[in-house]
Amino acid sequence: MAVQTAAPTTPSVDLGPAAGLSCRECGERFPLGPVFACEHCFGPLEVAYDLPAGDPEELRKRIEAGPANIWRYAPLLPVPADVADKPNLNPGWTPLVKADNLARELGVTGGLYVKDDSGNPTHSFKDRVVAQALEAARAFGFTTLSCSSTGNLAGAVGAAAARAGFRSCVFIPHDLEQGKVVMAAVYGGDLVGIEGTYDDVNRFCSELIGDPLGEGWGFVNVNLRPYYAEGSKTLAYEICEQLGWRLPDQLVVPIASGSQLTKIDKGLQELIRLGLVEDRPYRIFGAQAQGCSPVSAAFKAGHDVVRPQKPNTIAKSLAIGNPADGPYVLDIARRTGGAVEDVDDEQIVDAIKLLARTEGVFAETAGGVTVGVTRKLIENGLLDPSLTTVVLNTGDGLKTLDAVAPTTGPTATIRPSLDAFRDAGLAH
Ligand SMILES: *Cc1c(COP(=O)(O)O)cnc(C)c1O
Repeated sequence: MAVQTAAPTTPSVDLGPAAGLSCRECGERFPLGPVFACEHCFGPLEVAYDLPAGDPEELRKRIEAGPANIWRYAPLLPVPADVADKPNLNPGWTPLVKADNLARELGVTGGLYVKDDSGNPTHSFKDRVVAQALEAARAFGFTTLSCSSTGNLAGAVGAAAARAGFRSCVFIPHDLEQGKVVMAAVYGGDLVGIEGTYDDVNRFCSELIGDPLGEGWGFVNVNLRPYYAEGSKTLAYEICEQLGWRLPDQLVVPIASGSQLTKIDKGLQELIRLGLVEDRPYRIFGAQAQGCSPVSAAFKAGHDVVRPQKPNTIAKSLAIGNPADGPYVLDIARRTGGAVEDVDDEQIVDAIKLLARTEGVFAETAGGVTVGVTRKLIENGLLDPSLTTVVLNTGDGLKTLDAVAPTTGPTATIRPSLDAFRDAGLAH
């Protein structure tokens, strides 16, 4: 893989409280720039901050007075202070649904919530991460936004680029759901289907970055990955604020590359460090589809390394066979007393229908994975139903109709007459 390492100096870049990049392996610090790997040990880089010091009550008030989107947390994100005035999609502040019906069905007594990210501008959580990458792209002078995508990211990049006046060219596996392909194409950027899996697409993009063909391109999840990843912290911030500035006891989070799960943990740690929430234990659980469960397999085997798999599942948004953040997910699940579990395609479809039937929330397959895994974790005693639990739904069911269409449809199709309706036996 072509790896770009940190340039010695980058002209001063205003990304708010972001003070630099640090290597997650060796801790080496680098200036802010479009780089993602440490030049000494090739470890992944992440954003390091000068976070606001001072009275937590004042910071809490400042956040609460902010806009009803992710920019209320701008003081904790790698974005300039005037970010809300720039053209972007303003995602976030999605509902935290108190899921009492689902709780009854699953036997959860400690309070069950669904963080429903289906209502974001392009109907998945990916708008949160792309919004950060867009600000980094602006700061570093890129003119084209790009990505390797399992589907949702392509749409989020296409839409953000359209709004902000960037060119976009995004790459997806050629065999995605129609809902994802159409959404990725409709915003007018270039969309390229690659004959291969997501892991092939990602490898191709890494080559493109190292080639003159990709010069001037900001790949949101490759050379802008440190900034992109920070967007997932906003899920942690919102969940805690919506619970009344309180940590949940347990969270169930989907895993594709594992980035979201690791940054939710980072976001919770920051809230504790800033005094915005009381410090008490929380458990993070990871959820995968059985047809692409490299992290779950490693967790169950007690391994620290993740062995790549070739994905075969209806949960295509999570179908990353070689997840970059897999080892960090294992650390977090073990450190917090959580676990990583997986469910098969049939259980995913059942869980999508269960959530829809109990709460009126139509999740994409990734939401079927988290709800299905929650049920399984309760059954095998790993998740405590007497504790406050938040389950993430990261995308909209309208994008993955193929998953439920074969087993969902009209109860009856009749002639427009009362007799025909009576005969159908539906009048109660
Ligand atoms: C991308 C994605 C995720 C999580 O991805 P990570 O790579 O683990 O951060 C979860 N749900 C949906 C619907 C996604 O599109």
